[in-house]
Amino acid sequence: MELSENALKVLRARYLLKDEQGRVIESPREMFGRIARSVAEAEKFYGDRACYWEERFYELLSSLRFLPNSPTIMNAGKSPGQLAACFVLPVEDSMPGIFDTLKNAALILQSGGGTGFSFSRLRPKADIVRSTGGIASGPVSFMKIYNTATDVIKQGGARRGANMGILRIDHPDVLEFIRVKRDAKELANFNISLAITDAYMEALRADGEYQLVNPRTGKSAGRLRAGEVFGEIVASAWETGDPGLVFIDRLNRANPTPAAGSFESTNPCGEQPLLPYEACVLGSLNLAAHVKGGVIDYDALGRDVAVAVRFLDDTIDVNSYPLPAIERMHKGNRKIGLGVMGWADMLVLLGIPYDHEKAFRLAREVMRFIRDASREASCALAKERGVFPNFAGSIYDAPHMPRLRNATTTTIAPTGTLSTIADCSSGIEPLFALAYKRFVLDSELVEINKYFLQMAKEQGFYSVELFQEVMRRGNLRQVKGIPSRVKRLFRTALEILPEHHIEMQAAFQEYTDNAVSKTINLPNRAKKEDVARAYLLAYEKGCKGITVFRYGARRGTLVKFADTD
Ligand code: UDP
Repeated sequence: MELSENALKVLRARYLLKDEQGRVIESPREMFGRIARSVAEAEKFYGDRACYWEERFYELLSSLRFLPNSPTIMNAGKSPGQLAACFVLPVEDSMPGIFDTLKNAALILQSGGGTGFSFSRLRPKADIVRSTGGIASGPVSFMKIYNTATDVIKQGGARRGANMGILRIDHPDVLEFIRVKRDAKELANFNISLAITDAYMEALRADGEYQLVNPRTGKSAGRLRAGEVFGEIVASAWETGDPGLVFIDRLNRANPTPAAGSFESTNPCGEQPLLPYEACVLGSLNLAAHVKGGVIDYDALGRDVAVAVRFLDDTIDVNSYPLPAIERMHKGNRKIGLGVMGWADMLVLLGIPYDHEKAFRLAREVMRFIRDASREASCALAKERGVFPNFAGSIYDAPHMPRLRNATTTTIAPTGTLSTIADCSSGIEPLFALAYKRFVLDSELVEINKYFLQMAKEQGFYSVELFQEVMRRGNLRQVKGIPSRVKRLFRTALEILPEHHIEMQAAFQEYTDNAVSKTINLPNRAKKEDVARAYLLAYEKGCKGITVFRYGARRGTLVKFADTD
Protein backbone atom coordinates (compact mmCIF):
# COMPACT_ATOMS: atom_id res chain seq x y z
CA MET A 1 0.00 0.00 0.00
CA GLU A 2 1.45 3.34 -1.01
CA LEU A 3 0.56 5.99 1.51
CA SER A 4 2.13 9.41 1.28
CA GLU A 5 3.93 10.98 4.20
CA ASN A 6 1.07 13.43 4.66
CA ALA A 7 -1.51 10.64 4.58
CA LEU A 8 0.39 8.78 7.30
CA LYS A 9 0.50 11.88 9.47
CA VAL A 10 -3.24 12.43 9.18
CA LEU A 11 -4.03 8.76 9.75
CA ARG A 12 -1.83 8.53 12.82
CA ALA A 13 -3.22 11.70 14.32
CA ARG A 14 -6.89 11.07 13.78
CA TYR A 15 -7.91 7.81 12.18
CA LEU A 16 -5.87 4.86 13.46
CA LEU A 17 -7.18 3.31 16.66
CA LYS A 18 -5.42 4.33 19.85
CA ASP A 19 -5.22 2.79 23.30
CA GLU A 20 -6.14 4.64 26.46
CA GLN A 21 -2.71 6.24 26.65
CA GLY A 22 -3.18 7.62 23.17
CA ARG A 23 -0.73 5.22 21.53
CA VAL A 24 -1.56 4.14 17.99
CA ILE A 25 -2.50 0.46 18.03
CA GLU A 26 -3.29 -0.31 14.40
CA SER A 27 -1.52 -0.05 11.07
CA PRO A 28 -3.19 1.50 8.01
CA ARG A 29 -3.64 -2.04 6.64
CA GLU A 30 -5.40 -3.06 9.83
CA MET A 31 -7.50 0.08 9.63
CA PHE A 32 -8.75 -0.80 6.13
CA GLY A 33 -9.31 -4.37 7.35
CA ARG A 34 -11.40 -3.06 10.25
CA ILE A 35 -13.55 -0.94 7.93
CA ALA A 36 -14.04 -3.73 5.37
CA ARG A 37 -14.87 -6.32 8.03
CA SER A 38 -17.33 -4.26 9.98
CA VAL A 39 -19.18 -2.90 6.93
CA ALA A 40 -19.36 -6.39 5.37
CA GLU A 41 -21.12 -7.53 8.54
CA ALA A 42 -24.26 -6.11 6.89
CA GLU A 43 -23.99 -8.82 4.23
CA LYS A 44 -25.01 -11.35 6.88
CA PHE A 45 -28.51 -9.86 6.90
CA TYR A 46 -28.91 -10.73 3.24
CA GLY A 47 -26.87 -13.86 2.46
CA ASP A 48 -23.75 -15.84 3.16
CA ARG A 49 -21.15 -13.92 1.19
CA ALA A 50 -19.82 -11.62 3.88
CA CYS A 51 -16.26 -12.96 3.52
CA TYR A 52 -16.30 -12.44 -0.23
CA TRP A 53 -17.48 -8.83 0.10
CA GLU A 54 -15.09 -8.11 2.93
CA GLU A 55 -12.24 -8.99 0.59
CA ARG A 56 -13.66 -6.89 -2.24
CA PHE A 57 -14.12 -3.91 0.10
CA TYR A 58 -10.63 -4.31 1.51
CA GLU A 59 -9.09 -4.38 -1.95
CA LEU A 60 -11.01 -1.26 -3.05
CA LEU A 61 -10.13 0.74 0.06
CA SER A 62 -6.52 -0.29 0.53
CA SER A 63 -5.69 0.55 -3.08
CA LEU A 64 -7.05 4.08 -2.34
CA ARG A 65 -9.41 3.91 -5.33
CA PHE A 66 -12.38 4.69 -3.07
CA LEU A 67 -12.72 6.02 0.47
CA PRO A 68 -15.84 6.44 2.61
CA ASN A 69 -16.43 9.69 4.54
CA SER A 70 -14.27 10.29 7.61
CA PRO A 71 -16.72 9.05 10.27
CA THR A 72 -16.72 5.60 8.63
CA ILE A 73 -12.93 5.46 8.64
CA MET A 74 -12.75 6.63 12.25
CA ASN A 75 -15.63 4.73 13.76
CA ALA A 76 -16.21 1.50 11.81
CA GLY A 77 -15.94 -1.47 14.12
CA LYS A 78 -16.21 0.64 17.25
CA SER A 79 -19.17 0.34 19.52
CA PRO A 80 -21.17 2.45 18.98
CA GLY A 81 -19.88 3.30 15.53
CA GLN A 82 -21.49 6.31 13.88
CA LEU A 83 -20.56 6.24 10.20
CA ALA A 84 -22.44 9.06 8.46
CA ALA A 85 -21.00 12.55 7.75
CA CYS A 86 -24.18 14.48 7.02
CA PHE A 87 -27.28 15.31 8.99
CA VAL A 88 -30.09 17.85 8.98
CA LEU A 89 -32.22 18.61 12.03
CA PRO A 90 -35.41 20.67 12.17
CA VAL A 91 -35.59 23.68 14.51
CA GLU A 92 -39.10 24.24 15.82
CA ASP A 93 -40.36 27.64 16.96
CA SER A 94 -40.47 26.89 20.67
CA MET A 95 -38.00 26.80 23.57
CA PRO A 96 -38.24 23.00 23.98
CA GLY A 97 -37.94 22.64 20.20
CA ILE A 98 -34.84 24.85 19.95
CA PHE A 99 -33.05 23.21 22.87
CA ASP A 100 -34.02 19.61 22.04
CA THR A 101 -32.48 20.13 18.63
CA LEU A 102 -29.35 21.62 20.19
CA LYS A 103 -29.01 18.51 22.36
CA ASN A 104 -29.47 16.26 19.33
CA ALA A 105 -26.95 18.30 17.38
CA ALA A 106 -24.47 17.84 20.22
CA LEU A 107 -24.86 14.07 19.95
CA ILE A 108 -24.27 14.21 16.20
CA LEU A 109 -21.23 16.48 16.47
CA GLN A 110 -19.73 14.22 19.11
CA SER A 111 -20.10 11.25 16.80
CA GLY A 112 -18.14 12.95 14.00
CA GLY A 113 -21.03 14.13 11.83
CA GLY A 114 -21.83 17.63 10.62
CA THR A 115 -25.29 19.14 10.98
CA GLY A 116 -27.37 21.55 8.93
CA PHE A 117 -30.33 23.52 10.29
CA SER A 118 -32.84 25.90 8.87
CA PHE A 119 -33.72 28.60 11.38
CA SER A 120 -36.51 29.86 9.15
CA ARG A 121 -39.33 28.58 11.33
CA LEU A 122 -38.29 30.74 14.27
CA ARG A 123 -40.40 33.83 14.77
CA PRO A 124 -38.58 37.10 14.04
CA LYS A 125 -36.90 39.40 16.50
CA ALA A 126 -39.37 41.50 18.56
CA ASP A 127 -42.30 39.25 17.66
CA ILE A 128 -44.62 38.36 20.53
CA VAL A 129 -44.04 35.49 22.95
CA ARG A 130 -47.42 34.67 24.38
CA SER A 131 -46.33 32.42 27.25
CA THR A 132 -44.11 35.04 28.86
CA GLY A 133 -45.69 38.19 27.50
CA GLY A 134 -42.19 39.11 26.35
CA ILE A 135 -40.64 39.57 22.93
CA ALA A 136 -38.73 37.07 20.79
CA SER A 137 -34.97 37.39 20.27
CA GLY A 138 -34.99 35.99 16.72
CA PRO A 139 -33.19 33.24 14.80
CA VAL A 140 -29.74 34.86 14.76
CA SER A 141 -29.63 35.01 18.56
CA PHE A 142 -30.32 31.27 18.77
CA MET A 143 -27.72 30.54 16.11
CA LYS A 144 -25.20 32.22 18.40
CA ILE A 145 -26.14 29.85 21.20
CA TYR A 146 -25.70 26.87 18.88
CA ASN A 147 -22.34 28.28 17.85
CA THR A 148 -21.12 28.60 21.42
CA ALA A 149 -22.29 25.07 22.20
CA THR A 150 -20.36 23.80 19.19
CA ASP A 151 -17.21 25.46 20.52
CA VAL A 152 -17.27 23.22 23.54
CA ILE A 153 -18.14 19.97 21.83
CA LYS A 154 -15.18 18.42 20.15
CA GLN A 155 -16.38 16.11 17.47
CA GLY A 156 -15.55 12.63 18.77
CA GLY A 157 -12.32 14.23 19.95
CA ALA A 158 -11.23 14.32 16.34
CA ARG A 159 -13.09 16.89 14.27
CA ARG A 160 -14.08 20.47 14.73
CA GLY A 161 -17.78 21.10 14.92
CA ALA A 162 -19.24 21.85 11.52
CA ASN A 163 -22.69 23.39 11.06
CA MET A 164 -24.76 24.85 8.27
CA GLY A 165 -27.20 27.59 9.20
CA ILE A 166 -29.91 28.48 6.70
CA LEU A 167 -32.46 31.27 6.64
CA ARG A 168 -35.10 31.83 3.99
CA ILE A 169 -34.74 35.03 1.99
CA ASP A 170 -38.33 35.94 2.94
CA HIS A 171 -37.74 35.74 6.71
CA PRO A 172 -38.17 39.16 8.36
CA ASP A 173 -34.70 38.92 9.99
CA VAL A 174 -32.97 38.31 6.69
CA LEU A 175 -30.81 41.46 6.78
CA GLU A 176 -29.44 40.71 10.23
CA PHE A 177 -28.62 37.19 9.05
CA ILE A 178 -26.88 38.43 5.92
CA ARG A 179 -24.68 40.80 7.93
CA VAL A 180 -23.96 38.71 11.01
CA LYS A 181 -20.65 37.21 9.89
CA ARG A 182 -19.14 40.57 8.96
CA ASP A 183 -18.16 40.52 12.61
CA ALA A 184 -15.40 37.90 12.55
CA LYS A 185 -16.20 36.75 16.07
CA GLU A 186 -19.70 35.64 15.17
CA LEU A 187 -20.81 32.17 14.11
CA ALA A 188 -17.29 30.87 13.49
CA ASN A 189 -18.54 27.26 13.59
CA PHE A 190 -21.16 27.93 10.95
CA ASN A 191 -21.25 28.16 7.22
CA ILE A 192 -24.34 30.18 6.46
CA SER A 193 -26.51 30.20 3.37
CA LEU A 194 -29.69 31.90 2.28
CA ALA A 195 -32.53 29.74 1.04
CA ILE A 196 -33.33 31.59 -2.19
CA THR A 197 -36.81 31.15 -3.63
CA ASP A 198 -37.88 31.42 -7.27
CA ALA A 199 -40.18 34.29 -6.25
CA TYR A 200 -37.17 36.22 -4.98
CA MET A 201 -35.17 35.56 -8.16
CA GLU A 202 -38.15 36.74 -10.19
CA ALA A 203 -38.36 39.96 -8.13
CA LEU A 204 -34.63 40.47 -8.54
CA ARG A 205 -34.87 40.02 -12.29
CA ALA A 206 -37.74 42.50 -12.49
CA ASP A 207 -35.93 44.89 -10.14
CA GLY A 208 -39.00 44.81 -7.91
CA GLU A 209 -40.00 44.11 -4.34
CA TYR A 210 -40.69 40.81 -2.66
CA GLN A 211 -42.70 39.87 0.36
CA LEU A 212 -41.42 38.95 3.80
CA VAL A 213 -43.41 36.39 5.76
CA ASN A 214 -43.68 35.94 9.51
CA PRO A 215 -43.29 32.16 9.95
CA ARG A 216 -45.36 32.17 13.16
CA THR A 217 -48.47 33.63 11.52
CA GLY A 218 -47.83 32.88 7.84
CA LYS A 219 -48.80 36.51 7.21
CA SER A 220 -46.98 39.23 5.36
CA ALA A 221 -44.36 41.12 7.37
CA GLY A 222 -43.60 43.85 4.89
CA ARG A 223 -41.71 44.08 1.63
CA LEU A 224 -38.10 44.63 0.61
CA ARG A 225 -36.48 45.62 -2.64
CA ALA A 226 -34.88 42.45 -4.03
CA GLY A 227 -31.96 44.38 -5.50
CA GLU A 228 -31.09 46.10 -2.23
CA VAL A 229 -31.06 42.80 -0.37
CA PHE A 230 -28.92 41.30 -3.13
CA GLY A 231 -26.46 44.17 -2.69
CA GLU A 232 -26.17 43.31 1.01
CA ILE A 233 -25.65 39.62 0.25
CA VAL A 234 -22.92 40.40 -2.25
CA ALA A 235 -21.21 42.86 0.10
CA SER A 236 -21.05 40.26 2.88
CA ALA A 237 -19.94 37.45 0.58
CA TRP A 238 -17.25 39.65 -0.94
CA GLU A 239 -15.97 40.54 2.52
CA THR A 240 -16.21 37.16 4.25
CA GLY A 241 -17.30 34.35 1.90
CA ASP A 242 -20.68 34.12 3.68
CA PRO A 243 -23.56 33.85 3.06
CA GLY A 244 -23.65 31.33 0.25
CA LEU A 245 -26.86 30.67 -1.64
CA VAL A 246 -29.02 27.55 -1.75
CA PHE A 247 -31.69 27.55 -4.46
CA ILE A 248 -34.33 25.99 -2.27
CA ASP A 249 -37.17 25.66 -4.80
CA ARG A 250 -34.82 24.00 -7.26
CA LEU A 251 -33.72 21.62 -4.50
CA ASN A 252 -37.30 20.70 -3.77
CA ARG A 253 -38.18 20.19 -7.42
CA ALA A 254 -35.47 17.52 -7.41
CA ASN A 255 -36.63 15.99 -4.11
CA PRO A 256 -36.90 12.25 -4.80
CA THR A 257 -39.22 11.60 -1.84
CA PRO A 258 -41.67 14.52 -1.52
CA ALA A 259 -44.08 12.34 0.46
CA ALA A 260 -41.43 11.93 3.17
CA GLY A 261 -40.83 15.68 3.65
CA SER A 262 -39.30 18.71 1.97
CA PHE A 263 -35.83 20.19 2.01
CA GLU A 264 -35.08 23.22 4.12
CA SER A 265 -31.35 22.78 4.66
CA THR A 266 -28.21 21.05 3.48
CA ASN A 267 -25.31 19.57 5.42
CA PRO A 268 -22.42 21.88 6.45
CA CYS A 269 -20.52 22.02 3.19
CA GLY A 270 -23.65 22.26 1.03
CA GLU A 271 -23.35 19.12 -1.06
CA GLN A 272 -26.15 17.20 0.58
CA PRO A 273 -29.73 18.48 0.81
CA LEU A 274 -31.56 16.42 3.42
CA LEU A 275 -35.03 16.18 4.92
CA PRO A 276 -35.43 16.96 8.61
CA TYR A 277 -33.86 14.08 10.61
CA GLU A 278 -32.26 12.64 7.52
CA ALA A 279 -28.64 11.45 7.30
CA CYS A 280 -26.40 10.44 4.42
CA VAL A 281 -23.23 8.40 4.07
CA LEU A 282 -20.78 9.67 1.49
CA GLY A 283 -17.90 8.06 -0.32
CA SER A 284 -15.54 9.22 -3.04
CA LEU A 285 -13.86 7.49 -5.95
CA ASN A 286 -10.32 8.57 -6.68
CA LEU A 287 -10.45 9.45 -10.38
CA ALA A 288 -6.67 9.76 -10.67
CA ALA A 289 -6.45 6.06 -9.85
CA HIS A 290 -8.70 5.24 -12.80
CA VAL A 291 -6.41 6.52 -15.55
CA LYS A 292 -4.33 3.83 -17.27
CA GLY A 293 -1.87 4.65 -20.03
CA GLY A 294 -3.29 8.12 -20.62
CA VAL A 295 -6.96 7.03 -20.90
CA ILE A 296 -9.82 6.49 -18.47
CA ASP A 297 -10.24 2.84 -17.53
CA TYR A 298 -14.05 2.80 -17.62
CA ASP A 299 -14.25 -0.97 -17.06
CA ALA A 300 -12.42 -0.66 -13.77
CA LEU A 301 -14.37 2.46 -12.86
CA GLY A 302 -17.68 0.68 -13.49
CA ARG A 303 -16.63 -2.25 -11.32
CA ASP A 304 -15.52 0.08 -8.54
CA VAL A 305 -18.77 2.05 -8.65
CA ALA A 306 -20.74 -1.16 -8.12
CA VAL A 307 -18.64 -2.25 -5.15
CA ALA A 308 -18.71 1.27 -3.67
CA VAL A 309 -22.50 1.46 -3.91
CA ARG A 310 -22.82 -1.89 -2.17
CA PHE A 311 -20.35 -0.73 0.49
CA LEU A 312 -22.31 2.47 1.16
CA ASP A 313 -25.64 0.62 1.24
CA ASP A 314 -24.16 -1.85 3.74
CA THR A 315 -22.93 1.06 5.84
CA ILE A 316 -26.53 2.08 6.51
CA ASP A 317 -27.29 -1.33 8.04
CA VAL A 318 -24.33 -1.41 10.41
CA ASN A 319 -24.48 2.24 11.42
CA SER A 320 -25.21 3.20 15.04
CA TYR A 321 -27.52 6.19 14.70
CA PRO A 322 -27.41 9.04 17.21
CA LEU A 323 -31.25 9.22 17.34
CA PRO A 324 -34.10 6.82 16.54
CA ALA A 325 -35.78 9.47 14.34
CA ILE A 326 -32.63 9.69 12.21
CA GLU A 327 -32.35 5.92 11.95
CA ARG A 328 -35.97 5.72 10.74
CA MET A 329 -35.47 8.42 8.15
CA HIS A 330 -32.13 7.19 6.83
CA LYS A 331 -33.33 3.61 6.63
CA GLY A 332 -36.52 4.85 4.94
CA ASN A 333 -34.75 6.60 2.05
CA ARG A 334 -31.38 4.83 2.23
CA LYS A 335 -29.61 7.83 0.64
CA ILE A 336 -26.01 7.33 -0.30
CA GLY A 337 -23.71 9.88 -1.91
CA LEU A 338 -21.03 8.46 -4.16
CA GLY A 339 -18.79 11.14 -5.64
CA VAL A 340 -15.32 11.79 -6.89
CA MET A 341 -12.00 13.23 -5.87
CA GLY A 342 -8.79 13.62 -7.86
CA TRP A 343 -10.63 15.26 -10.77
CA ALA A 344 -7.94 17.90 -11.37
CA ASP A 345 -5.31 15.15 -11.22
CA MET A 346 -7.23 13.10 -13.76
CA LEU A 347 -7.28 16.05 -16.13
CA VAL A 348 -3.53 16.54 -15.74
CA LEU A 349 -2.96 12.85 -16.47
CA LEU A 350 -5.08 13.17 -19.60
CA GLY A 351 -3.33 16.40 -20.62
CA ILE A 352 -6.52 18.50 -20.49
CA PRO A 353 -6.49 21.97 -18.84
CA TYR A 354 -9.16 22.39 -16.15
CA ASP A 355 -10.77 25.37 -17.86
CA HIS A 356 -10.82 23.92 -21.36
CA GLU A 357 -14.07 23.08 -23.17
CA LYS A 358 -12.88 19.46 -23.32
CA ALA A 359 -12.72 19.35 -19.53
CA PHE A 360 -16.36 20.45 -19.16
CA ARG A 361 -17.40 17.84 -21.72
CA LEU A 362 -15.42 15.14 -19.96
CA ALA A 363 -16.89 16.15 -16.59
CA ARG A 364 -20.35 15.40 -17.98
CA GLU A 365 -19.19 12.16 -19.53
CA VAL A 366 -17.50 10.87 -16.38
CA MET A 367 -20.26 11.91 -13.99
CA ARG A 368 -22.96 10.57 -16.26
CA PHE A 369 -21.12 7.25 -16.35
CA ILE A 370 -20.87 7.18 -12.56
CA ARG A 371 -24.51 8.17 -12.07
CA ASP A 372 -25.73 5.50 -14.50
CA ALA A 373 -23.44 2.82 -13.07
CA SER A 374 -24.43 3.71 -9.50
CA ARG A 375 -28.13 3.50 -10.36
CA GLU A 376 -27.57 0.17 -12.05
CA ALA A 377 -25.82 -1.08 -8.94
CA SER A 378 -28.60 0.27 -6.75
CA CYS A 379 -31.20 -1.51 -8.96
CA ALA A 380 -29.27 -4.76 -8.65
CA LEU A 381 -29.28 -4.34 -4.86
CA ALA A 382 -33.02 -3.64 -4.95
CA LYS A 383 -33.56 -6.99 -6.68
CA GLU A 384 -31.62 -8.70 -3.91
CA ARG A 385 -32.76 -6.66 -0.92
CA GLY A 386 -35.83 -4.69 -1.95
CA VAL A 387 -36.38 -1.05 -2.91
CA PHE A 388 -35.94 1.69 -0.27
CA PRO A 389 -38.89 1.56 2.14
CA ASN A 390 -40.23 5.04 1.18
CA PHE A 391 -40.28 4.04 -2.50
CA ALA A 392 -44.08 4.31 -2.77
CA GLY A 393 -44.86 7.95 -3.51
CA SER A 394 -41.27 8.69 -4.56
CA ILE A 395 -40.40 10.03 -8.03
CA TYR A 396 -39.22 6.53 -8.91
CA ASP A 397 -42.65 5.07 -8.19
CA ALA A 398 -43.76 5.35 -11.82
CA PRO A 399 -43.65 3.23 -14.97
CA HIS A 400 -40.27 3.13 -16.73
CA MET A 401 -38.45 4.46 -13.68
CA PRO A 402 -35.67 2.39 -12.11
CA ARG A 403 -36.52 0.43 -8.98
CA LEU A 404 -33.76 1.61 -6.69
CA ARG A 405 -32.41 0.52 -3.34
CA ASN A 406 -31.34 4.11 -2.62
CA ALA A 407 -33.35 7.31 -3.08
CA THR A 408 -30.13 9.03 -4.19
CA THR A 409 -26.78 7.58 -5.20
CA THR A 410 -24.52 10.53 -6.07
CA THR A 411 -23.04 13.54 -4.23
CA ILE A 412 -19.80 15.48 -4.78
CA ALA A 413 -18.17 16.05 -1.38
CA PRO A 414 -15.27 18.37 -0.63
CA THR A 415 -13.07 15.42 0.45
CA GLY A 416 -11.00 17.71 2.64
CA THR A 417 -9.33 14.86 4.50
CA LEU A 418 -10.03 11.97 2.18
CA SER A 419 -8.01 13.56 -0.59
CA THR A 420 -5.01 13.87 1.74
CA ILE A 421 -5.33 10.19 2.63
CA ALA A 422 -5.63 9.19 -1.03
CA ASP A 423 -2.96 11.74 -2.03
CA CYS A 424 -5.03 13.32 -4.78
CA SER A 425 -6.60 16.69 -5.56
CA SER A 426 -9.74 17.41 -3.57
CA GLY A 427 -13.22 16.78 -4.94
CA ILE A 428 -13.70 18.46 -8.31
CA GLU A 429 -11.60 21.48 -7.36
CA PRO A 430 -8.73 22.67 -9.52
CA LEU A 431 -5.27 22.51 -8.00
CA PHE A 432 -5.11 25.29 -5.46
CA ALA A 433 -1.37 25.75 -5.79
CA LEU A 434 1.46 23.70 -7.22
CA ALA A 435 3.48 23.91 -4.08
CA TYR A 436 2.45 25.03 -0.67
CA LYS A 437 2.93 24.61 3.00
CA ARG A 438 -0.03 23.69 5.03
CA PHE A 439 -0.58 23.03 8.64
CA VAL A 440 -2.26 19.76 9.43
CA LEU A 441 -2.70 19.33 13.17
CA ASP A 442 0.56 20.60 14.66
CA SER A 443 2.86 19.87 11.81
CA GLU A 444 3.78 21.76 8.74
CA LEU A 445 3.35 19.76 5.57
CA VAL A 446 5.02 20.77 2.35
CA GLU A 447 3.22 19.70 -0.75
CA ILE A 448 4.61 19.84 -4.24
CA ASN A 449 2.39 18.62 -6.99
CA LYS A 450 3.76 15.19 -7.84
CA TYR A 451 2.62 15.28 -11.48
CA PHE A 452 4.28 18.63 -12.04
CA LEU A 453 7.50 17.34 -10.49
CA GLN A 454 7.46 14.28 -12.68
CA MET A 455 6.74 16.26 -15.83
CA ALA A 456 9.47 18.79 -15.03
CA LYS A 457 11.98 15.98 -14.70
CA GLU A 458 10.80 14.13 -17.78
CA GLN A 459 10.72 17.21 -19.96
CA GLY A 460 14.03 18.50 -18.66
CA PHE A 461 13.03 21.85 -17.10
CA TYR A 462 13.57 20.78 -13.51
CA SER A 463 16.04 22.70 -11.40
CA VAL A 464 16.29 23.50 -7.70
CA GLU A 465 16.06 27.25 -8.41
CA LEU A 466 12.97 26.80 -10.52
CA PHE A 467 11.34 24.82 -7.78
CA GLN A 468 12.16 27.39 -5.18
CA GLU A 469 10.48 29.95 -7.35
CA VAL A 470 7.41 27.77 -7.82
CA MET A 471 7.33 27.26 -4.05
CA ARG A 472 7.40 31.00 -3.53
CA ARG A 473 4.72 31.84 -6.06
CA GLY A 474 2.47 28.80 -5.87
CA ASN A 475 1.72 28.99 -9.57
CA LEU A 476 3.62 29.05 -12.84
CA ARG A 477 2.30 32.23 -14.43
CA GLN A 478 5.42 34.35 -14.03
CA VAL A 479 7.97 31.56 -13.84
CA LYS A 480 10.44 31.57 -16.72
CA GLY A 481 11.66 28.44 -18.44
CA ILE A 482 8.41 26.51 -18.37
CA PRO A 483 6.73 25.60 -21.66
CA SER A 484 3.45 27.50 -22.13
CA ARG A 485 1.47 24.29 -22.62
CA VAL A 486 2.63 23.14 -19.17
CA LYS A 487 1.60 26.49 -17.69
CA ARG A 488 -1.82 26.10 -19.28
CA LEU A 489 -2.21 22.53 -17.99
CA PHE A 490 -1.29 23.42 -14.41
CA ARG A 491 -3.40 26.57 -14.06
CA THR A 492 -4.39 26.95 -10.42
CA ALA A 493 -7.68 27.92 -8.79
CA LEU A 494 -7.09 31.68 -8.76
CA GLU A 495 -5.96 31.75 -12.39
CA ILE A 496 -9.20 30.12 -13.48
CA LEU A 497 -12.06 32.48 -14.27
CA PRO A 498 -15.08 32.38 -11.95
CA GLU A 499 -17.35 31.48 -14.86
CA HIS A 500 -15.20 28.45 -15.57
CA HIS A 501 -15.37 27.36 -11.93
CA ILE A 502 -19.14 27.62 -12.19
CA GLU A 503 -19.24 25.83 -15.53
CA MET A 504 -17.42 22.90 -13.91
CA GLN A 505 -19.79 22.85 -10.95
CA ALA A 506 -22.79 22.93 -13.32
CA ALA A 507 -21.31 20.13 -15.46
CA PHE A 508 -21.04 17.82 -12.46
CA GLN A 509 -24.40 18.93 -11.07
CA GLU A 510 -26.16 17.85 -14.24
CA TYR A 511 -25.47 14.19 -13.40
CA THR A 512 -25.47 14.33 -9.61
CA ASP A 513 -28.62 13.43 -7.63
CA ASN A 514 -27.66 15.48 -4.60
CA ALA A 515 -25.48 18.57 -4.85
CA VAL A 516 -21.90 19.50 -5.60
CA SER A 517 -19.39 20.95 -3.17
CA LYS A 518 -17.36 23.62 -4.94
CA THR A 519 -15.73 26.86 -3.94
CA ILE A 520 -15.78 29.56 -6.57
CA ASN A 521 -12.37 31.07 -5.86
CA LEU A 522 -11.89 34.70 -6.75
CA PRO A 523 -8.64 36.62 -6.71
CA ASN A 524 -8.22 39.23 -3.98
CA ARG A 525 -8.70 42.06 -6.47
CA ALA A 526 -12.17 40.76 -7.46
CA LYS A 527 -14.94 43.34 -7.19
CA LYS A 528 -18.36 43.04 -5.65
CA GLU A 529 -19.78 42.94 -9.16
CA ASP A 530 -17.77 39.77 -9.79
CA VAL A 531 -19.43 38.15 -6.79
CA ALA A 532 -22.83 39.33 -8.02
CA ARG A 533 -22.19 37.95 -11.48
CA ALA A 534 -21.06 34.60 -10.07
CA TYR A 535 -24.19 34.29 -7.90
CA LEU A 536 -26.50 35.02 -10.82
CA LEU A 537 -24.59 32.74 -13.16
CA ALA A 538 -24.82 29.81 -10.73
CA TYR A 539 -28.61 30.19 -10.76
CA GLU A 540 -28.73 30.47 -14.52
CA LYS A 541 -26.52 27.42 -15.03
CA GLY A 542 -28.67 25.11 -12.92
CA CYS A 543 -26.40 24.83 -9.85
CA LYS A 544 -28.17 23.95 -6.59
CA GLY A 545 -26.17 26.46 -4.60
CA ILE A 546 -23.00 28.52 -4.62
CA THR A 547 -20.14 29.45 -2.30
CA VAL A 548 -17.57 32.04 -3.28
CA PHE A 549 -14.32 32.85 -1.59
CA ARG A 550 -12.17 35.83 -2.39
CA TYR A 551 -8.54 35.05 -1.73
CA GLY A 552 -7.27 36.84 1.34
CA ALA A 553 -10.80 37.78 2.46
CA ARG A 554 -11.37 37.02 6.07
CA ARG A 555 -13.23 33.87 6.81
CA GLY A 556 -13.26 33.05 10.46
CA THR A 557 -15.11 29.83 9.93
CA LEU A 558 -14.68 26.28 8.90
CA VAL A 559 -13.77 26.02 5.27
CA LYS A 560 -13.72 23.14 2.85
CA PHE A 561 -10.54 21.89 4.40
CA ALA A 562 -11.97 21.82 7.86
CA ASP A 563 -9.51 19.19 9.03
CA THR A 564 -6.50 21.33 8.26
CA ASP A 565 -6.41 24.19 10.67
N1 UDP B 1 -17.66 17.42 8.04
C1 UDP B 1 -17.70 17.71 9.39
N2 UDP B 1 -16.59 18.25 10.00
C2 UDP B 1 -15.46 18.52 9.34
C3 UDP B 1 -15.41 18.25 7.95
C4 UDP B 1 -16.52 17.69 7.34
O1 UDP B 1 -18.71 17.50 10.04
O2 UDP B 1 -14.48 19.00 9.96
C5 UDP B 1 -18.85 16.82 7.37
C6 UDP B 1 -19.73 17.83 6.69
O3 UDP B 1 -21.07 17.39 6.68
C7 UDP B 1 -19.18 17.84 5.28
C8 UDP B 1 -18.92 16.36 5.08
O4 UDP B 1 -18.44 15.93 6.35
O5 UDP B 1 -20.09 18.40 4.40
C9 UDP B 1 -17.96 16.00 4.02
O6 UDP B 1 -16.78 16.79 4.13
P1 UDP B 1 -15.39 16.26 3.55
O7 UDP B 1 -15.66 15.55 2.27
O8 UDP B 1 -14.42 17.39 3.53
O9 UDP B 1 -14.93 15.22 4.68
P2 UDP B 1 -13.88 14.03 4.70
O10 UDP B 1 -14.69 12.77 4.54
O11 UDP B 1 -12.85 14.24 3.63
O12 UDP B 1 -13.28 14.12 6.06
